Amino acid sequence: MTKSSQNTINTFDCVIIGAGAAGLMASIEAAKRGQRVLLLEKNSKPGVKILMSGGTRCNLTQDTDTRGIVSAFGKQGRFLHSALARFSNTDLIEYFRERGVPTKIEPSGKVFPQSDRAKDVLDALVNDATKNDVALNLNEPAKTVEYRDGTFEISTQHAVYKVDTVLITTGGLSFPGCGTTGDGYTWCQQFGHSIVPTVPALVPLKTPEDSWTRELQGVTLEDLELTVLDSSGVIQSTTRGSTLFTHLGISGPAAMNISKTISYAGHSNLNLQINFLPEFNREQKIAHLTDLCQRNAKRQLTTSLKELLPSRTINVLLNQAKINPTIRCAEISKATIRVLAETLHTLCTTVTGTLGFAKAEVTAGGIELSEVHSQTMESKCQPGLFLAGEILNLDGPIGGYNFTAAFATGFLAGQNL
Ligand SMILES: Cc1cc2nc3c(=O)[nH]c(=O)nc-3n(C[C@H](O)[C@H](O)[C@H](O)COP(=O)(O)OP(=O)(O)OC[C@H]3O[C@@H](n4cnc5c(N)ncnc54)[C@H](O)[C@@H]3O)c2cc1C
Repeated sequence: MTKSSQNTINTFDCVIIGAGAAGLMASIEAAKRGQRVLLLEKNSKPGVKILMSGGTRCNLTQDTDTRGIVSAFGKQGRFLHSALARFSNTDLIEYFRERGVPTKIEPSGKVFPQSDRAKDVLDALVNDATKNDVALNLNEPAKTVEYRDGTFEISTQHAVYKVDTVLITTGGLSFPGCGTTGDGYTWCQQFGHSIVPTVPALVPLKTPEDSWTRELQGVTLEDLELTVLDSSGVIQSTTRGSTLFTHLGISGPAAMNISKTISYAGHSNLNLQINFLPEFNREQKIAHLTDLCQRNAKRQLTTSLKELLPSRTINVLLNQAKINPTIRCAEISKATIRVLAETLHTLCTTVTGTLGFAKAEVTAGGIELSEVHSQTMESKCQPGLFLAGEILNLDGPIGGYNFTAAFATGFLAGQNL
């Protein structure tokens, strides 16, 4: 069908493209203000990422203040001030409580629905959108977005929609099977926007097949410090937290939080340094190991080390330190204790890359923030065009920060459409 022969529809004030967290929230806010809103979604259902998030529990936000949210986004975080002033993480919690989805805070500060069901979060949003007369068209991807004679024209396989304002909330490039294939970037570039190079973030890391990490496959350690070093040994990034060793490398929150540094470095081999007892500095590690050996003189080192380290890690670590696992504590020299302490402090593995966009929870990079009015989410390149959510050059760590940003920017955009 040629564009001219397509059904032209003039009955909406605005079109929102992408029914994820940002698009749904924006559609509700715009509709509440009396806008006739069309929400276009490529998939057969809205909010696919909401449903799969947080292991289908949906980590909605983080138990912190606005400053905590802003600082989690690093340099880009400042962009969020206005959005969070309108719709903070506490407003988000209240929004869902009022709609029958009370939340709970876990010890890590992560906020989840009390029911542990991401579906409850999505249902609340979809019900609110329906209640406010948002027209949600599923299975209808936007194909082009153009501005002609003072009007936006959004073309789909069914129609050309003519509206005054458009909000693009098509997300990034991560988990492309969810519909997020970067469609919005192309339209934004056509309107003159620059795209900060996009890379996978919050994604598991790959280590070489012969890396010692493979021997720890299936082991989760609750508190490791991970440091990425470049080939000259210069620290690129450091983080601390729960870490899971996998058949391909390293995953879990700490590894995923540091993955952006590895993505930006390309696939050049980087060194990942792991501190197995980050609560102790080098000298404290030596003191603890010395004390341990003195108290357990007659026992084997492997047995005594269970006081300090999970059993499954001990032989791997002793092997890396080139220490005989059958040695008795009484036989251990001061020099050997130093070697073991150093291994626990700075054991390294090469990292060959990440599992890429296919397994990345978010996309780092995106629409250059200086080209978007942070008070309204309107484009500085094209009046009437609005942008919100993950399409923007904003990515936060694990912990509910990314939904917080998507909901807040979506809310603010919805108020200005
Ligand atoms: C496995 C996984 C787990 C996650 N867990 C969490 C978590 O627990 N907490 C957290 O804070 N963050 C989590 N995230 C990140 C979070 O999902 C995203 O930050 C958030 O979904 C971004 O919202 P968004 O609305 O900007 O984009 P998205 O949710 O990605 O929505 C974009 C929508 O646009 C649609 N679309 C794309 N192109 C078109 C088109 N041409 N026409 C029409 N529609 C289109 C897509 O189909 C999609 O529905 C997780 C991500 C993944 C992948």
